[in-house]
Amino acid sequence: MGRFRGRLRRLQREAEGGMTLVCPECGEEFVVAGDVAAEFIVALWSKETGQKGHRKTPEDLVRILDHDHNPGAFVEKQSGLPFLSREVSGMNLGGELIHDA
Ligand SMILES: [Zn+2]
Repeated sequence: MGRFRGRLRRLQREAEGGMTLVCPECGEEFVVAGDVAAEFIVALWSKETGQKGHRKTPEDLVRILDHDHNPGAFVEKQSGLPFLSREVSGMNLGGELIHDA
């Protein structure tokens, strides 16, 4: 049952414009909603500086940031590209952030 519910949740999220990220280390999948790359950068910045952002970090992002492996290396499942890459995020972030994450 939990599996089924998880799948439903995923479909809902994808319909809302989210995406599925996969950890290249362990293959765990994270379904995230919204503008993931932008949210990730804000959340990472908040975490590193210890400053609170202007709003609460979304639950999806908290799970990603708490993951055991480097979240900056996560790939977007559909394309197989890093979610922070320009192709996926729509932003030109360069490689630095990905290595530091
Ligand atoms: Zn992992």
